[in-house]
Amino acid sequence: MKTRRDFLSKGLMAAGGIVLSPTLLAQANSEVVSKQLDLPSLKGRKVLFTYGGWDGHEPKKFRDFMLPWLKDEGATVEAQDNLSPYTDVDLMKEMDLVIQIFTMSQITNEQEKGLLEAVKNGTGMAGWHGGMCDAFRSNVAYQYMTGGQWVAHPGGVIDYSVNVINKKDPISSGLKDFKMTSEQYFMHVDPNVKVLATTTFNGSNDFWIDGCVMPVAWKKMFGKGRIFYTSLGHNLDHVTSVPEALALTQRGIKWASASKYLAAEKWVSPAYDKD
Ligand SMILES: [Zn+2]
Repeated sequence: MKTRRDFLSKGLMAAGGIVLSPTLLAQANSEVVSKQLDLPSLKGRKVLFTYGGWDGHEPKKFRDFMLPWLKDEGATVEAQDNLSPYTDVDLMKEMDLVIQIFTMSQITNEQEKGLLEAVKNGTGMAGWHGGMCDAFRSNVAYQYMTGGQWVAHPGGVIDYSVNVINKKDPISSGLKDFKMTSEQYFMHVDPNVKVLATTTFNGSNDFWIDGCVMPVAWKKMFGKGRIFYTSLGHNLDHVTSVPEALALTQRGIKWASASKYLAAEKWVSPAYDKD
């Protein structure tokens, strides 16, 4: 573990063995972020990072990338490779934010209850891809909290575009549309979430979804807790190689960490026309 830590402090391994130093990543991000953003700081925040589930989504790689960043931002992080912290009422009360990467897998009723109670009381939750919105497929109360559930990624890893549709929200403000080579998530989404970015499917894999516009990133509330999700992140390097994708994720994490300190945002948005 020490060797791994030492390695991490020097540089982060990206796709194909390219080493991206944290400095280079920060520079890439600062080019993306052209103006001062109205986002809360992670300084002093208490974060619970749970990782596990299906290994194809690289929970340990994400842990090794996210933890140093969270600490650099001033957060205190507790990382656990299981879901038992969710049943620790005192611990959960203290947490400002839960970041979870736990694809598929299973959650006990007691763990689910503990997580949802904490979020209702103001602990935020942030996550990406299947680690948050393809976790615990049979737990509808959990999905009620997250705001969406993965159902398909036609064609697997493909080239697709992401459109940043909300130019005002601090999470997506200043970000240009961008391209991904990754899984394009088709999701069942709560129509009330505040959508920040979308993607449009073509019919090359499933002809009947040609033209479907699908949320890629959203924010919402669950009780007093702030929820942020992005579907980007099948592999770590899919996100770290696209500065806009990484910025979206990191900004969402910052926003979600502040439920206990900043006012709730209006999030319900009637999505359907009456005629
Ligand atoms: Zn995936």
